[in-house]
Amino acid sequence: MSIKHLHKASFFLSDKDKVKCLLCPKECLIVNGNTGVCGVRKNIDGILYSLVYAKPVAIHVDPIEKKPLFHFYPGSDILSIGTYGCNLSCQFCQNFDISQADSSKIETSGNELTPEELIKICKKNNLEFLAFTYNEPVIFFEYMLDIAKLCKNEKIKTVMVSNGQINPKPLLELIPYIDAFNIDLKSFNDSFYKNICNGKLETTINTIRTIAEHKKHIEVTFLLIKDYNDNLKEFTELCKFLKSLNPEIVLHISRAFPRYKLDMKTTPIELLNSFKETALRYLKNVYTGNV
Ligand code: SF4
Repeated sequence: MSIKHLHKASFFLSDKDKVKCLLCPKECLIVNGNTGVCGVRKNIDGILYSLVYAKPVAIHVDPIEKKPLFHFYPGSDILSIGTYGCNLSCQFCQNFDISQADSSKIETSGNELTPEELIKICKKNNLEFLAFTYNEPVIFFEYMLDIAKLCKNEKIKTVMVSNGQINPKPLLELIPYIDAFNIDLKSFNDSFYKNICNGKLETTINTIRTIAEHKKHIEVTFLLIKDYNDNLKEFTELCKFLKSLNPEIVLHISRAFPRYKLDMKTTPIELLNSFKETALRYLKNVYTGNV
């Protein structure tokens, strides 16, 4: 990919030929010619570039309930896009084929689709909603923000489906342009985040709190994995945390299927239902998913 086709990234510091990316809590220090952990932000001669700007590799029209969002314009269709790459590496990733793609795929990925062209697709198909989803949208921040700004002018509502692993400054820049969020809260145990996902629980907690404080629509997804994040005491703490923000926050407890690297079993329905019962003691809107 030639440099003239690349989009300069936001949120980085340069020190000679090294750059430090400040978009997410990984804060990768990247030497010339390399990418950060997400694989899609590359240092070229001391400047950080996005390799996935205007390069979606997944684009579909889905029911909005599939995001999942159950309390935000139910019954609507939503144009949904994603690129390659992710800033986590969850061993149970349900979309690992695009989130964990290797660099040779990323550098030659997809046909170009500019923000303006995406808006045209929405208009042509009478679509009033657009979602950033499938992989982690944080890592295509610049593309997402440019699209979301155009959507505001065109009265198209935007949705971000995210793991919440983003630094506070970029999050605050993004929030005014996103109408609804679904944030994955994968566990209430930092060791799970660290050892199974390569992430930080505290960051996702702060992201959820910030979005709620800004009074944006937010729903939370908890993917229940038997023997890994099914500690009822921790899950009760998770529910109490959400209740402390707003007891009306929607919680989706999703069934997990064996994918990618984790030696796991499909979540039993009885386990899902018992977690739903627990959650309903604290929250008004609780659903089971993938059943
Ligand atoms: S967005 Fe990517 S390059 Fe930037 S800090 Fe996070 S993982 Fe590293």
